[in-house]
Amino acid sequence: MAKIGRYEIIEELGNGEMASVYLARDPFIKRHIAIKILAYELTQDPLSLDFFYQEAEAIASLEHPTIVPIYDFGLHGVQPYIVMRHMPNGSLQSRLKRRGLTRQELCDLMGRIAEGLDAAHRVGIVHRDVKPSNILFNQTNEAFLTDFGLAKFTRRRSGMTGTLLVGTPEYMSPEQAQRLRVDGRSDIYSLGVILYLILTGKHPFRAATPSRTASAHIHAPVPSVRSVIAELPAMWDEIIGRTLAKTPEDRYESAEALARDVALATRGQWHLRTTHS
Ligand code: ATP
Ligand code: MG
Repeated sequence: MAKIGRYEIIEELGNGEMASVYLARDPFIKRHIAIKILAYELTQDPLSLDFFYQEAEAIASLEHPTIVPIYDFGLHGVQPYIVMRHMPNGSLQSRLKRRGLTRQELCDLMGRIAEGLDAAHRVGIVHRDVKPSNILFNQTNEAFLTDFGLAKFTRRRSGMTGTLLVGTPEYMSPEQAQRLRVDGRSDIYSLGVILYLILTGKHPFRAATPSRTASAHIHAPVPSVRSVIAELPAMWDEIIGRTLAKTPEDRYESAEALARDVALATRGQWHLRTTHS
């Protein structure tokens, strides 16, 4: 049986830009866990290694009921790995491919993710990669935030390289796309992109190439949700406008303030689309 450390690998759960994620079993505690292991090719790249260690450090310092907890950390040969809670109900990304969310699900999800983000922001941690594949569901379908891989302790920013474009273009705030200094309001913007996507099934800013997508975040006006779904009440455009404002000062001051407005808006009469194309 293949093993990473003492953990017995069961199957691959997925892989991203930097790492693979496996479902595994801890033979001591006899429970399923998820292992995220840095891709072998990236172990020679000090920047990737840095990101990976920062992920472990950032999450380990964050204990919060809506953030996926880390159990252990180790080295498999030259490859570092993180052991974390297994989230058996997949990601928001895979869920949105299957169906939309009900109003209650949207409300619950925004409330939980907002809580976790605000808690991180209060201790100076910016996530920087808030996107549907980094929101995972537990067995009772509660949402958790994961992958603080690109998170930086804001107070340590001064020593960082200023040239690397980190984050995922579709969800990147204008200041992140311009490689400017970012704070928690950049994550709130990314959460706004997710909200837009849940409401309409479409990305607000998406172009043929990553750099054009980044440029759209910087320059293009915020599209109306009602140009996609005409029956959505005007309140949603107000909420989206405040969340996707180009200037951080014009955005919600906390993710929870955004979540509160989402809760109010979902009490309206309209119904969310139940399928996304
Ligand atoms: P990117 O590399 O751009 O961040 P990503 O978030 O999809 O993309 P990974 O973070 O490596 O990449 O995760 C790969 C997949 O593994 C995720 O999409 C998710 O479905 C799954 N996954 C990650 N962590 C867990 C976990 N704790 N429990 C269950 N599945 C997980
Ligand atoms: Mg991820």
